[in-house]
Amino acid sequence: MNTTIRENLEEVRKNIENACRKAGRDPREVTLIAVSKTKPVPALQEAYMAGQRFFGENKVQEIQEKYGALPSDISWHMIGHLQRNKVKYIVDKVAMIHSVDSLRLAETIEAEAAKKNVIVPVLLEVNVAEEESKFGLRVHEIEPLIDKIRDFSHIRLKGLMTIAPFVEDPEENRLVFRELKKISVDIAEKNMNNNIMETLSMGMTGDYQVAIEEGATMVRVGTGIFGAREYNI
Ligand SMILES: *Cc1c(COP(=O)(O)O)cnc(C)c1O
Repeated sequence: MNTTIRENLEEVRKNIENACRKAGRDPREVTLIAVSKTKPVPALQEAYMAGQRFFGENKVQEIQEKYGALPSDISWHMIGHLQRNKVKYIVDKVAMIHSVDSLRLAETIEAEAAKKNVIVPVLLEVNVAEEESKFGLRVHEIEPLIDKIRDFSHIRLKGLMTIAPFVEDPEENRLVFRELKKISVDIAEKNMNNNIMETLSMGMTGDYQVAIEEGATMVRVGTGIFGAREYNI
């Protein structure tokens, strides 16, 4: 890919606008998370200079390193599997944790956020396609978990996240996205509370336009912005 990060960002933003137009949605409803995992600080700086303020990372250590090296008006999104013993390192640095998938993790976030006197917005990660290899709650586990964490005062439940299966044709994931949207609407209605389900984090480089058509409010795009990942840094 011989395009620059700035050009890639412009392309992705244009695609987001087109997907919104197609779906009759306002592009301001969709937040682009630039997934910068494995990418060095200068790559993130380039995206920042092109106006990007939301970044997604999946490793605690990378968030710690990049947090200190980049401007403070960046919103950091933890999108990867989170080990409980590492929560304390990022709980006061991230704008949102997308990957809450157990009561034990939620309890740890609650405890560490209380110590630092912060309130952490979180999403519940749902394994919609019920793939064996994936983290995430099964659909029937979502509501029992919500019932337990609704009283936690340092966690603010904001919605649901899913990592759809890897597919060649993004259309194959349309029903996964539609299902997550349906689950969130059902939960909001049952709880008579739209706030706890205002965010739907779904869609990656291969399928974010389809995800937007099905209701995504956050898309997580890595390769489409930064190119192939650099696992040797
Ligand atoms: C890496 C990653 C992404 C971005 O994937 P791309 O296909 O490069 O856009 C999105 N979400 C999660 C949870 C990831 O780990």
